[in-house]
Amino acid sequence: MTNTMVTLLGIPFDANSSFLKGPVLAPSRIRLQEAIGAVNTTSETGIAVVKDLDYRDAGDISFTGTVPEAAYLAIRQRVAHELQQPGKLICLGGDRSISFPVIEAHAEKYPTMHVLHIDAHPDLYHNFDDNPFSHASPFARVMERGLVQSLTQVGIRTMNAHQREQARRFNVRVVEMKDFDHSVISELQGPLYISVDLDALDPAFAPGVSHHEPGGFSTRDVIRMIQSIPVEVVGADIVEYNPVRDQHDQTAMVAYKLFKELAVRLMP
Ligand code: MN
Repeated sequence: MTNTMVTLLGIPFDANSSFLKGPVLAPSRIRLQEAIGAVNTTSETGIAVVKDLDYRDAGDISFTGTVPEAAYLAIRQRVAHELQQPGKLICLGGDRSISFPVIEAHAEKYPTMHVLHIDAHPDLYHNFDDNPFSHASPFARVMERGLVQSLTQVGIRTMNAHQREQARRFNVRVVEMKDFDHSVISELQGPLYISVDLDALDPAFAPGVSHHEPGGFSTRDVIRMIQSIPVEVVGADIVEYNPVRDQHDQTAMVAYKLFKELAVRLMP
């Protein structure tokens, strides 16, 4: 092990999900794919991504309850702690809500950070279910605090009037799925944080998510994005995997694959 090794942190929390529960089971299910030997542990770049050799598994955050604010504080504190180590961090959710405290902690370490958000949903609701920590609102919380230099969203195919207004208010660059062109990736600025919601992928490629939104990316589209990002990547999360909705771990394997390709981008 080297002290600049990438660290994996599981965040099994889904109490901020508005519709279905299940992402609480995600980190262990994704790890299991490597543990049982279901996967090839070399990334497409040729660099290996093996636990204890190429990355450190910091385990899961343990939650004592489902109170949203307590979870928010626990996540922010633990991520900040992990970021005191020299290596970079990749977090496995959990529902989408975990990205707010994770990004907040990263922004303290990387104050000039930009964010690429890959998702079917903009997650910009000012108020959803009267829960400021709802999984529909993390990017409203990030932007109203001015935590990042810019937010670019790709894969979006659920814009409504309120979220369009929120995107305008926060100057979010929303590249809707219907307008997506890969060239947007070459325009990204760094240092860059990448947040991947698996529902950005078409349900045909990733059925194990709570909100099926047809008309999305292929797995290859997202891999290509990760591989072609032209700037330094300083952190990443993969959220909204829901094992309860999965078929034969198909989506767990997608999550693992994206973990591998992202981990390589986080290596020194
Ligand atoms: Mn989503």
